[in-house]
Amino acid sequence: MSRDINSKFWDEELETLPREELEKRQLEDLKEIVKFAYDHAPYYKRSFDEAGVKPEDIKTLKDIQKFPFINKKTQRDTQGVGSFLGELAAVPEEDVVFISTSSGSTGVPTMSPFTKKDFDEFQDTESRWFWQIGMRPNDRYVHALNFSLYVGGPDVIGAQNLGALCIWGGTLPSERLLFILKTYKPTIIWTSPSYAWQLGEKALKAGYDPKKDFNIKKIIVAGELGGSIDATRKAIEEIWGAEVFDFYGLSDIFGACAAQCEYHDGLHIAENHILVETVDIHTGEVLEPGEVGELVFTTLRKHARPLIRFKTGDIGRIDTTKCKCGRTHGRISILGRKDDMFIVSAVNVFPSDIEAVIREQSDLTGEYLIRIFEKDFTSKYAVEVEKAAGIAKDDETVAAEVSAALKARIGVKPAKVIVHPDGGLDTRSEHKSRRVIDERNIDYNI
Ligand SMILES: [Zn+2]
Repeated sequence: MSRDINSKFWDEELETLPREELEKRQLEDLKEIVKFAYDHAPYYKRSFDEAGVKPEDIKTLKDIQKFPFINKKTQRDTQGVGSFLGELAAVPEEDVVFISTSSGSTGVPTMSPFTKKDFDEFQDTESRWFWQIGMRPNDRYVHALNFSLYVGGPDVIGAQNLGALCIWGGTLPSERLLFILKTYKPTIIWTSPSYAWQLGEKALKAGYDPKKDFNIKKIIVAGELGGSIDATRKAIEEIWGAEVFDFYGLSDIFGACAAQCEYHDGLHIAENHILVETVDIHTGEVLEPGEVGELVFTTLRKHARPLIRFKTGDIGRIDTTKCKCGRTHGRISILGRKDDMFIVSAVNVFPSDIEAVIREQSDLTGEYLIRIFEKDFTSKYAVEVEKAAGIAKDDETVAAEVSAALKARIGVKPAKVIVHPDGGLDTRSEHKSRRVIDERNIDYNI
């Protein structure tokens, strides 16, 4: 590999393209992919015809706004229809070399196919993120993500292509993972934020000092919002003595579509692959960069199954101004899943807002559970927390302080704060933690 290891960029020209040039390339690819989708994917032919739009209508990037949205339901309704790959697929099965499937939180798994070129470009993008956080060929990297069907599994190839020594950890039991950290002294690990937190606690309980006994310098987290919540990121950094980087992936596109740089100010998204729109959650009206809404992605280069105006279900915003790191690709910030957002007294509340408050309280362990329920025909929320060992304050005082902090940050206070002792909540998990229980339509006596 001839790449200069001192360069901060994996692909300097691409990553620092002036916006005008970047958008010119996006437009070329958009024209091509919309035509390809129309010509080869039965669903797009039908839906564009019904909407009265044709590929030739794309003259500027904004013209994408004339085209209909798709969402997860479109994928479910069309997969397996007409062929194994379904009506959104635009290539025959013999051109497909890989599929990932997502279980998601609801319903039938959806499948995401890749051609050989799609897959190679996917891994080149993953290499870009790894390089961006400082991974170099002399790093040892543990990929502690699920390999079964999950689109994040193959990302290890991106690290390997970069030249790092890769340890395909998968979802090992924590004792074995700690053994690897102790024995092989890897420098970088990728896992979920809740597991990074749990593993640190387990290491401490097993008698290790994660800062001294291991050699972890960087931790990549994804799959949950914690990595973008400053208080959570700092708490994980504190346990490990390592820098935490948040990645954002979508099972429908890439294991990581976006990643933080050293400034941790939003996540750079691969705009050469993804055209980002932000739309009003209710009306679908297109919003300006910087405004908060549902993120809608159009894949610009994936030919196996192009996604044209895919509503991701993620609420966030994009900042298209140049980052201090020199990269020109926009930075997204995710506030939460549309499905997770709940409304209390006309205020939009995201579980991530609650997490940020809880992780800032020094009297708490940081574990929490949110219950959303209905009372008197309106939604309310209750929060359960754990008081850290050795805190002398009584539970009522701790509860009152948490309640006041939540009211100050979110604008509406919880109906109740329940304080458990350290270890009293059953939220510690090996993978993704379940921290939100929606009990609406269920009677909750409080
Ligand atoms: Zn940056």
